[in-house]
Amino acid sequence: MSTVALKDVTKIWPDGTVAVDKVDLEVRDGEFLVLLGPSGCGKSTILRMIAGLEDPTAGSILLNGESVAELAPRDRQIAMVFQDFALYPHMTVAGNIGFPLKLSGVESGPRGERIGDVAAALGIGDVLARKPTQLSGGQRQRVAMGRAIVRRPGLFLMDEPLSNLDSGLRAELRTEITALTRELGVTTMYVTHDQAEALTMADRVAILRGGVLQDVGTPTEVYGRPATLYVAAFLGSPRMNLLEASVYVHLDRYVVLDLGEQVLYLPWSDIRARAIARYHGERIVVGMRAEALTPVAPDAPGDVLRGRIRYLEHHGHESLAFLDIGATAIVVDEAGKGVADAVPSGGALSRVGGALQRLAGRSDRAVRERPEAQRVSVLSDPGRHHRRPAEVAVRLAPYPAVSPGHSLAVGVRMDALHFFDERGDRIDVGWR
Ligand code: ADP
Repeated sequence: MSTVALKDVTKIWPDGTVAVDKVDLEVRDGEFLVLLGPSGCGKSTILRMIAGLEDPTAGSILLNGESVAELAPRDRQIAMVFQDFALYPHMTVAGNIGFPLKLSGVESGPRGERIGDVAAALGIGDVLARKPTQLSGGQRQRVAMGRAIVRRPGLFLMDEPLSNLDSGLRAELRTEITALTRELGVTTMYVTHDQAEALTMADRVAILRGGVLQDVGTPTEVYGRPATLYVAAFLGSPRMNLLEASVYVHLDRYVVLDLGEQVLYLPWSDIRARAIARYHGERIVVGMRAEALTPVAPDAPGDVLRGRIRYLEHHGHESLAFLDIGATAIVVDEAGKGVADAVPSGGALSRVGGALQRLAGRSDRAVRERPEAQRVSVLSDPGRHHRRPAEVAVRLAPYPAVSPGHSLAVGVRMDALHFFDERGDRIDVGWR
């Protein structure tokens, strides 16, 4: 049983790379916490510091409430599983799984029993006598897991353990890993860049960008109420439509969201209208996931956007139509690099570089402030903002009776819209 706490943890490599930037994070006992973010955002560095393979440059790491600064890796009761797990090729499956027990002097009788239990739990009881070369990829990964859990660690650290496997097997092992760790009750930190993996496996997800923690919450929380524009853009498929909108308050009756060629009206009765009204005369970002949009009849009343289909994508179970509604898209740069180097020359995208760091920490979210130099306006910083018509993703039935060039009307669920200020912070009324 273990808890983990990171307090203001920073890791700066000798070449000056800030891999982890003042991260505060708590992992509860028995929790399955997923660290999610694009490649290079500092996920592995965090795991390696917890395991004791790297030292933080600043801040402290606590295991079960105690600082681990003086604790050698082998004394931390931690097991790690990596993407490129290495099994001992000359040993059988049983030998591989039992090796950590042998090292710590467990007699062969009890060792055999523990190996049998673990192998049974992992569904590899029938291949104990085989060598790693005689196993499938999935079986090898199970052996690696078995070797990690056989010592009954207090804390399990997994670094992209499934990324070398094909997608069918990945989905199968996802379920197995979560079932196994829950059954064992072992606290687990799991690193992935795959948002689907994070949303399906996690008790809570911690989203990182450029070493900075952006949001922490249950999958429902981070998907349903993303704290920043970056989190909104990173989670979900198809990606959330992020549109620039000018805000006008109309006689305290409704708030107009002017998307360019079309407008939406947020009624004053909407609990968020007052918060949005504070941006009267300014621009904000309106986020609409595909599930907030439903095709309707061309002359349907209510909150409707109309546009021409630019292109269609067929996904088998559904099709996606991308609509030109005369709005401007905000495109989020995942890596968190400066916009100047993120925009291709003559690039048409309006990209948001360092703009989306969360600037004002909220008490219920472990999110840090960024240095002044990295504060960039999403909407108004000249030279960093390139315009192009938004292509708004709308879900349709498989192989719909429409084609590119056709016009389409979509009803908008106003209560499902997300709003972000020009720094990329969520505009909200604060309940969660
Ligand atoms: P992730 O696991 O999210 O892909 P990492 O934690 O591996 O990211 O890396 C975070 C950043 O630190 C990256 O910019 C990476 O290039 C850098 N980095 C990782 N390991 C080292 C190292 N040993 N020396 C210098 N830089 C490193």
